[in-house]
Amino acid sequence: MSKVRNCSFCGCEISKHNKGVEGIDAVICHQCLDLYAEIMQIEDRDFYSLDFIKKVELKEITPKLIFDELSKQVIGQTEAKRILSVALYQHYKRIINPKCSFDKSNILMIGPTGTGKTLLAKTMAEILNVPLAICDATVYTQAGYVGEDVENILLKLLQNADFDIDQAQYGIVFLDEFDKLARKSDNPSITRDVSGEGVQNALLKIIEGSVVNVPPQGGRKHPYQECIKFDTSNVLFICAGAFDGLKFNKRKHVGFNSVTDNSLFELTKALQNYGIIPELLGRLPVIARLNSLTVNELEQILTVPKKALIKQYINVFKEDEVALEFTPDAINQIATCAHNEGLGARALKKILEDMMLDYMFEVPSNKDVHHIKICKSDVLQSVNSKKISSA
Ligand code: ADP
Repeated sequence: MSKVRNCSFCGCEISKHNKGVEGIDAVICHQCLDLYAEIMQIEDRDFYSLDFIKKVELKEITPKLIFDELSKQVIGQTEAKRILSVALYQHYKRIINPKCSFDKSNILMIGPTGTGKTLLAKTMAEILNVPLAICDATVYTQAGYVGEDVENILLKLLQNADFDIDQAQYGIVFLDEFDKLARKSDNPSITRDVSGEGVQNALLKIIEGSVVNVPPQGGRKHPYQECIKFDTSNVLFICAGAFDGLKFNKRKHVGFNSVTDNSLFELTKALQNYGIIPELLGRLPVIARLNSLTVNELEQILTVPKKALIKQYINVFKEDEVALEFTPDAINQIATCAHNEGLGARALKKILEDMMLDYMFEVPSNKDVHHIKICKSDVLQSVNSKKISSA
């Protein structure tokens, strides 16, 4: 009878179906061999830890899955979500296979304030479980001038990745207020545009993908520190702004079998006229446009996402054993008032906070209250009283 042998690594039995390779003192089974080969291949990629890849790989991501995940948090913005799902999927492919032939496609998001630009970026980073740095473009200046150097964007990413350079190099940078970097005038003047065009030029290098020296304690205060070499080739940059007053004629033309949107060329031209330098636009090939939110979408934002505001208020009162209820009319009225404010979904929070303040103050000390019903008239009363007091 032949001797039963077990794999020296996982302990499984070596059999006809799970053959092994014998060494002097050990046996390794087929499965462990496969795993070993996989690890060696991954180590070849030399950027990041096995742990990180496994986390992402297990999700078996597809653009549709990304779209569905985004939709759980972000209401409306269907077109933008489709574009971003594809872009994020490409980013994911680069994470699991850095030799992927596809060049990275950084993103420009254009949309009014409060319509979900930051939320989209946050959700994208959550889906892939990669670090995210949310930065405000207006704080940076061209190197050598008062303000922050653009390298600090990468430092923020590194900090948010707990200084794990492997993870940071596959992170996402969300650069808000990007439109504020627009060139101030067409004529190169004597005073240099160090916070606008100067920053755009400084961004070229890091957005395109290069090895940048990042001072771990921030640049100017600690000039003699040893820098960390940060390769930005696989960082996904999302530049976002409202681009108020952007002038462009959206022209549709009838294509083969369908009506296609022929406005991308026009849009790029308009962005150049707005003051974004063509070299930088060239590095932001994916453009996602977000729409103003409708009253119906604002109603959904109040009630549908997992962390929807109304759900949050209901939970807070539940902790004090009070059932809080909003009538559909009340929800519609909150959404309508927010819509009139023109600040997108941001106004929802303000309206709710103003309206709920008295309840939040009184209810915990009044044990007789077990049920609160908010009606349309309550919303109107609160909104009108605020108008009077701020007038
Ligand atoms: P901005 O477009 O100015 O970056 P944000 O993403 O910061 O807007 O949104 C501001 C607030 O409104 C956040 O609390 C966000 O959750 C909510 N919000 C905005 N747009 C949406 C949306 N489309 N779906 C769900 N929530 C949204």
